[in-house]
Amino acid sequence: MTAVDPDARRPRVGIMGGTFDPVHNGHLVAASEVAQHFGLDEVVFVPTGQPYQKPDASLSEHRYLMTVVATASNPRFTVSRIDIDRDRPTYTIDTLRDMRDARPDADLFFITGADAIAQILEWKDVDELFDLAHFVAVSRPGHPLTISGLPEQDVSLLEVPALAISSTDCRSRVGRGFPVWYLVPDGVVQYIAKHHLYRSLI
Ligand code: ATP
Ligand code: MG
Repeated sequence: MTAVDPDARRPRVGIMGGTFDPVHNGHLVAASEVAQHFGLDEVVFVPTGQPYQKPDASLSEHRYLMTVVATASNPRFTVSRIDIDRDRPTYTIDTLRDMRDARPDADLFFITGADAIAQILEWKDVDELFDLAHFVAVSRPGHPLTISGLPEQDVSLLEVPALAISSTDCRSRVGRGFPVWYLVPDGVVQYIAKHHLYRSLI
């Protein structure tokens, strides 16, 4: 029988939640920088379920597949369908409970941008959120990186290279016929063109 090594380090797993409509280089740099800084073994990208205001269910599949394409070449990046396949609206607490059940051996790190962390105090079950994961908020151009009111032991702030990219802008650029090369990974540029995504926004 193999003895359990009491000094064995628990795996560290990052969770990068987002709509990823489409995934862009700002998301990837955020995940990569947090992985480096916190010594993460893996970052799981978790595309959200279908937002109410966008009833086109096929878009969920596109968002999922673009995230797979964007992360495929990084050995530490994976993509989960847990929120895409949920048959009801997802809250971050649901994602974290499911991840904890799937990876009971791991320490979880939930990665957000400066805009998203600002809303955390408004989320339901905030104390349980902090029990389930350590939160890391990364800098994002146009959004102050502050955590006033959030417990320091539960939330870290990390400056990352500034990329003023948003999915909203990427969709708008495609709709207006502008390029998104170098804002999103090459495979995502090609996926958007192949499936004629975001063409009808204007
Ligand atoms: P949208 O414009 O549709 O809201 P988005 O660019 O904000 O898209 P989301 O999918 O909403 O992308 O974001 C997922 C997560 O990534 C959030 O925590 C968000 O704060 C973070 N994030 C998005 N873009 C950046 C960026 N350029 N730099 C740092 N963090 C980012
Ligand atoms: Mg957003």
